[in-house]
Amino acid sequence: MKPIYIPVYLFSGFMGYCEIKIINHYKLGISPKITKATIIGKKIHQDLEEADKLIPRETATEQQLKNPYVDLDFPREETKIVIDRSPFIYIGRIDKCIRLDGNVVIIDDKVSKSGKVFERPFMDKILQLSCYCEGFLNGYSNLLVFNKIFFKVVQRDIDGNVISEYEEEYNEKLRNLLIGKFQRFEDIYNQKIQPEHCNNANKCRACSYFHGCKWRLE
Ligand code: SF4
Repeated sequence: MKPIYIPVYLFSGFMGYCEIKIINHYKLGISPKITKATIIGKKIHQDLEEADKLIPRETATEQQLKNPYVDLDFPREETKIVIDRSPFIYIGRIDKCIRLDGNVVIIDDKVSKSGKVFERPFMDKILQLSCYCEGFLNGYSNLLVFNKIFFKVVQRDIDGNVISEYEEEYNEKLRNLLIGKFQRFEDIYNQKIQPEHCNNANKCRACSYFHGCKWRLE
């Protein structure tokens, strides 16, 4: 069967925000609207990537990779992940990854126009970061040694300044949640089950599929 490549950022937006997006995207061919926030976020990510290139680095030796207590700093945007659930192949690129005090930390920069700080990121972000952690465990566990894996969401304002940081360990509970969401996404995609509507007009108004969505709430 032909592989079906699913970018992790899309998967997490479908399953952590509104499952109707799956139908809009794959069955009706509606493209998500590019918002101002997306454009600002892209620019900030590019600036961070350029600044990261200026950090002097040496390639880690095998001995350093195998010693969890040697801190490591991976070049920004260069760690790719793949989660193979053939025919579904989930793919993504991690913003930033470090090994610190024996643990790996997957870092994601999120640009917020409102500047509002939340206690815990929304489910779409939790799923996206869980995918990165799972993909990192699949792809890099043989390459380097570490104890635990955490994810960190760095919330920035539209000028790129850090306004909050949230860190959480990726554990069995999150893995089970992620696997359940993969299964559900694949069943909706294959039209075995119906998608669930978010039932939230505020979410609809903020949704990038709003204009083309015939199920939107206004
Ligand atoms: S507009 Fe509303 S119902 Fe439609 S995909 Fe977006 S959140 Fe879901």
